[in-house]
Amino acid sequence: MTNIRSQELWTRAQKVIPGGVNSPVRAMASVGLTPPFIKSAQGCRVMDVDGNKYIDCVGSWGPLILGHAHPEVVEAVTKAAEKGTSFGASTQAEVEFAEKLCASVPSLEQVRLVSSGTEATMSAIRLARGATGRNKIIKFEGCYHGHSDGLLVAAGSGLITLGIPSSPGVPEEMTSLTLNLPYNDLDAITQAFEQHSREIAAVIVEPVAGNMGVVPPAPGFLEGLRALCDKYGTILIFDEVITGFRLALGGAQEHFGITPDLTCLGKIIGGGLPVAAYGGKKDIMSQIAPCGPVYQAGTLSGNPLATAAGLAVLELLQGYGVYDQLEEKAARLFSGMLELFEEKGLDHTGNRVGSMFTVFFQKGPVTDYASAAKSDTELFARYYRALLAKGVYMAPSPFEATFVSLAHQEDDIDQILGVCNQALEEITS
Ligand code: PMP
Repeated sequence: MTNIRSQELWTRAQKVIPGGVNSPVRAMASVGLTPPFIKSAQGCRVMDVDGNKYIDCVGSWGPLILGHAHPEVVEAVTKAAEKGTSFGASTQAEVEFAEKLCASVPSLEQVRLVSSGTEATMSAIRLARGATGRNKIIKFEGCYHGHSDGLLVAAGSGLITLGIPSSPGVPEEMTSLTLNLPYNDLDAITQAFEQHSREIAAVIVEPVAGNMGVVPPAPGFLEGLRALCDKYGTILIFDEVITGFRLALGGAQEHFGITPDLTCLGKIIGGGLPVAAYGGKKDIMSQIAPCGPVYQAGTLSGNPLATAAGLAVLELLQGYGVYDQLEEKAARLFSGMLELFEEKGLDHTGNRVGSMFTVFFQKGPVTDYASAAKSDTELFARYYRALLAKGVYMAPSPFEATFVSLAHQEDDIDQILGVCNQALEEITS
């Protein structure tokens, strides 16, 4: 497998783009590799500029639940583009899209479209503060909610991989308003509420954490958050940027039967185009301009290409048995991987919810950031290099999720398992 062209591009990229990448998680320094530069993708396969093909388990970090370049999504985007790429004005498609989102996700009575998950969470926090007149928020260690100032405190994703606990450039005055607590620890949250009583505007949580590796909510955790928020008049925000339309049409809130006050969506709802959303009960959402005083806006919000893609994706996901298929595929891949780790006698533990999972390089259990962080990153890096060299493309960090898509067929899953087997043999021999 040669990577001459990727290496050439990597050299050029590092001259004109900081670190050579437009998002830190794409750099593969932590696993000691030059990232492959992707040329095209189809279904569950991606091809790089050197002609190497990989089976993809990243899915653009979650959005591509249908696989790459799904013909119906491509057709919808192409047709939309022919009619104009942006109007900065109201369209029929954005109304239909919002109607579909509200009909699918239990907490949504109204929804506002934005262009990234970061915008969605940032706006939801602003709205929660505006609606409650309070300033403090609670988030959880290892959860990532995008890169807006107040949420960049002990966050997951690339910050764990790069070992950056919080970012310079974010004033202490901002982060002092963020209470950062261990995931799954209801006692700590109860104490924080008792201490700060009526100052907490919002609790923001990934209902299944996906940014420290996959960490499911412990039984009672989400119920506990709901009860505490009700008791203290605090707004409960589910960040479903990953879990929305992945765990069910109605996301984690449908899966677990807990309804938050506000929900953030992204990734899947845009089918790979830049669209995200936040929404919730009408009485809270009506605080947003122009009907209320909380300001939030966007030149490209509700962009016609993105809404066309989103509508096509949602229609396909409404098809019969989609989530059962995803469950079956993910269970097959996950249990196959666990068997291989077992066979090779490697310390490991696996967490899976639906079509997202992580096999951690340690005994576990992994229930929060502190336990996730115990993973053997050195061994993971060796495993990763072997996987990529043999044509399996996963997220280059032990603290990320593996995403299964509807495009992964049985053969592909068996092929991934064959490569995992070889990679594990290589690192254990
Ligand atoms: N929330 C969660 C749960 C995420 O996983 C991410 C991105 N991985 C974001 C928010 C931010 O989304 P974006 O990268 O689109 O800004």
